[in-house]
Amino acid sequence: MQPDAPPRQLKEKTEKHYCVKCLSEVPRDEYLENDFLCDECAEEERQADAARMKDE
Ligand SMILES: [Zn+2]
Repeated sequence: MQPDAPPRQLKEKTEKHYCVKCLSEVPRDEYLENDFLCDECAEEERQADAARMKDE
């Protein structure tokens, strides 16, 4: 038995995330914060939402 096994690397850190809209690569934090979108698409969504609100 080995007493000092090396700590397992977090797989999350190396995983890549892609915007569901434009498919560009997005950093994990940004991706999760924007609900699977890049900053640009998230901003577009926000504006689309605001426009929809005005309509109703
Ligand atoms: Zn995007």
